[in-house]
Amino acid sequence: MINILDFHTHRLDTVQALISVSPKEFSPQPGRYYSVGIHPWLPLETLSEDDFALLEQCARHPQVLAVGETGMDSLRGSDLNVQETVFTRHLRLAAQLHKPVVVHCVRTAQQILAIRRRERLTAVPLAIHGMRGNERVARTWLEEGSYLSYGARFNPAAVETTPGDRLLIETDEAHQTIQEVAAMIADVLNCSADEVMALTAANARRLLTSQD
Ligand SMILES: [Zn+2]
Repeated sequence: MINILDFHTHRLDTVQALISVSPKEFSPQPGRYYSVGIHPWLPLETLSEDDFALLEQCARHPQVLAVGETGMDSLRGSDLNVQETVFTRHLRLAAQLHKPVVVHCVRTAQQILAIRRRERLTAVPLAIHGMRGNERVARTWLEEGSYLSYGARFNPAAVETTPGDRLLIETDEAHQTIQEVAAMIADVLNCSADEVMALTAANARRLLTSQD
């Protein structure tokens, strides 16, 4: 049974995690699970159709449970129009493969939600990774059915407002362990780190496997 404690990391040797890699990095190891995508910080202008073909080929792999990390970042990376085009292609691919999308979003929530509506792909589940937004931003995503993945830096009011069944946790590139992140979230929710881990692992399993 899939047991994902850490919803998003870039460390290739992490167990019980969804390891986020680029198509070129993807080299599946036994017992590990991945999300594959082209990060919005990369030089997206240089992407070719071959790059998208490789993305699709990786995303179809049975150990790849989600598409991403993809998304939009208004503070960093390529021109936002190019980011939008590349994100849209990831979203369409996820819809086609019935897999959720791991989203990187910096001050672009409205744009991402608009793309989703325009593409008529609101049924594709989104997991907003590295969620640092406030309560209002959290509500915006939650109303659209998204999951929120919190790492070592988060807004406590946003965590409090996130229903138990939409909560995920991650290490991303932080130096903390997933147990330490769970303890930080547990402090906010007045429960134990073990309870947070059990809850978020169940959520990850539902999100990553219910599409089959
Ligand atoms: Zn990341």
